[in-house]
Amino acid sequence: MRDDAWLNQRLDHIWEMLFPELERLNKVDVRFKGKWKNKFGHIKSVGKNSEIVVNGLFKEEDIPEYIVDITLAHELIHYMHGFNSPHEKKYKHPHAGGIVTRELKKRGFGHMIALEREFVEKDWFRLYEKLNPTKRKKKSFFSFLRG
Ligand SMILES: [Zn+2]
Repeated sequence: MRDDAWLNQRLDHIWEMLFPELERLNKVDVRFKGKWKNKFGHIKSVGKNSEIVVNGLFKEEDIPEYIVDITLAHELIHYMHGFNSPHEKKYKHPHAGGIVTRELKKRGFGHMIALEREFVEKDWFRLYEKLNPTKRKKKSFFSFLRG
């Protein structure tokens, strides 16, 4: 099973490969947490550090690695835009006008966006029930998959 060390390596790798000019102005940790249905990840400030959290269900090998990667990239874009990071805040709202999607496409994640959409439509809710069988079904919305 994937663990936090694996996740940190993954983040470093994505950062070096796809965000080479993005300055790491503080300590950025990443860890698995929670078992959410409608959220894949978020970034928050913890003192002077930033912490990226990835849905704990993504530890399971059933979840494709590209879902972890695109979640990390999404949160890195918030970091870049100054949300819960020391970078200058560039926008009023973290998801204003599709800024995250636009940046993801610019960084080469266009194909992964399509794969992710397909994964959410076809597999995610079934896998969620499989990996988290104690939770009872509730109506869900696709509107916020990440914080
Ligand atoms: Zn977001």
